[in-house]
Amino acid sequence: MSKISINLNSGEIDKNPIVLGIDLGTTNSLIAQVNPKTKEAEVVNLSGGSTPSIVHIENGQATVGLDAKKYLISQPENTVFSIKRLLGRSFKEIYNYQSYFPYQILDNDEKDLVQVKVDSSYYNPVQLSSFILKDLKRQAESYLNGEVSKVVITVPAYFNDAQRQATRDAGRLAGFDVLRIINEPTAASLSFGVGLDPNENTCIAVYDLGGGTFDVSILHINQGIFEILSTHGNTFLGGDDFDKALCDFWSKTYSLANDGRLRLQAEKAKIALNQEENYTSEYQEKIIKISRKAFNRLVDPIIEKTLKSFSVAIKNAEISESELSQILLVGGSTKSYRVKEKIAEKFPKIQINDTINPDKAVALGAAIEADILAGNRTDLLLLDITPLSLGLETLGGLMDVLIPRNSKIPIKSSRQYTTSKDGQSGLEINVFQGERDLVSNNRHLGSFTLSGIPAMPAGIPKIEVSFFLDANGLLQVQAKELRTGVEQNIHIKPRYGLTEEDIQHMLNNSIKFANNDVEQRSFIEADNEAKLNLNTVEKIRNQNPEFFDAQINTSLKHLLKSIKQAQHKKDTHKLLDLVEQLNHLIEPIGNKIMAKELKKKVK
Ligand code: ADP
Ligand code: MG
Repeated sequence: MSKISINLNSGEIDKNPIVLGIDLGTTNSLIAQVNPKTKEAEVVNLSGGSTPSIVHIENGQATVGLDAKKYLISQPENTVFSIKRLLGRSFKEIYNYQSYFPYQILDNDEKDLVQVKVDSSYYNPVQLSSFILKDLKRQAESYLNGEVSKVVITVPAYFNDAQRQATRDAGRLAGFDVLRIINEPTAASLSFGVGLDPNENTCIAVYDLGGGTFDVSILHINQGIFEILSTHGNTFLGGDDFDKALCDFWSKTYSLANDGRLRLQAEKAKIALNQEENYTSEYQEKIIKISRKAFNRLVDPIIEKTLKSFSVAIKNAEISESELSQILLVGGSTKSYRVKEKIAEKFPKIQINDTINPDKAVALGAAIEADILAGNRTDLLLLDITPLSLGLETLGGLMDVLIPRNSKIPIKSSRQYTTSKDGQSGLEINVFQGERDLVSNNRHLGSFTLSGIPAMPAGIPKIEVSFFLDANGLLQVQAKELRTGVEQNIHIKPRYGLTEEDIQHMLNNSIKFANNDVEQRSFIEADNEAKLNLNTVEKIRNQNPEFFDAQINTSLKHLLKSIKQAQHKKDTHKLLDLVEQLNHLIEPIGNKIMAKELKKKVK
């Protein structure tokens, strides 16, 4: 179904509706569009600048942005910042960071998302984020003088399903039609024009240093496909730490209260030092000073941490430094002259690209992706890639991968399964994410049961399980019995997801335990085979007792005993050997039964 939209200013019918791009940041947020006339990406609000991602709530009334920022100091308990850190998170995940948040975070139910207490009411992070998004909507609508609804919203590359889902929900709650959730580094690349040429094949790094978070991503871009080779960073490191370091220094040097007011002074000094060698100001009847040199000494250890992450990211991407064609600078803190200096010092051979305003790069890139989705650029198709494999549990707890890691999304994959018992009427489908051979070492995403399978002998039903991974990285699983058409499906919605450390940890373990996993897998396969064969022998003996003489029965008894022992000791070799002996023993009987059946037919 398509809709026609009419431009209220010009009265013209727009062929393709405008789709906007949103950078929902931890510190600042921004909304942008590709101008239909100039074809250039631009910010669509009256100020032209970012909106602080801060929400102040008083008497049930929410204020957002600069208007809310002024309450950070006077009413910290009613003023929420950095809500993005809580989005899609469980209490368990943020437990250790509680002291970071001056507002009260509640744990109502361990399995549910956290709640924040503001102005004696409770809000969840999705609601609080939606207030910011609603404000962006209002700004864009007054700038464009018309209603806006379709958007693309960016998230960090390491955001998991739950965090992406929560972002999408916040968008919906704000009244948007969220067409797609895209990765921030992918959006940033687009704003720098990287990836817009369908013939391009290159590797780049996106270094994103914001207010409270840092991440660096290594991307391989080939024919419009953005593959995130690796991402590394620190979710508690950013420009705020520069302010804090200076604030601590001043507070000690001049015996000043180390509070929010001094913090704001420190941020001012930090920005001024990009232009000047020295900063001097009057503060509470004292002259406070800082030189560039002294400031460098304070922030260098912080910047060095980001550079270490950078090296790890390159290593994890399994590329060499020389393969990187450029480093794109993104995030407000890359405006600090010292950050550029240190990156250039560390990577003297790689081109540093700071040609796009780092405050706006992500939002402008989101607008470009939005424009492509709106159908305004038919030469391009942007695809992302899934970071971990998706599969389901099969006999013996083995992981059967349907969508391997690094598959381009959207993607659909199907495979046929059957029942293992006669007359089995239901099949439980357990969906997992991860790289290990055993599902118990992977992450459980969800389960459902395909029920109502009509009674049939084991192995006869044909059950097709399909995985659909959409362009946002969200999974839908369907199971269908092909003979009868009975079907069932679920949208996988984990309540809380993986941290970026989890993802890294799971990938590392898949390498570390690869041998171990292979051993376990071969044992389980041998064990499954043994069980299957024993069942078959049991069935044959029940139906054809006349072929089992005392000698065979004794041999069988001994074999069964040995098989049990091998199963118990998890001795794969022995087990396979015994299964072969069992088959050998039964083979002549099988032949006799075949002959009997044939005779019946001939008669
Ligand atoms: P986020 O992505 O976390 O929302 P931003 O990319 O908007 O954050 O970055 C905000 C940070 O950038 C703040 O710490 C702010 O002090 C810093 N910043 C903004 N302008 C400058 C500047 N000119 N020089 C140095 N730091 C700056
Ligand atoms: Mg950002």
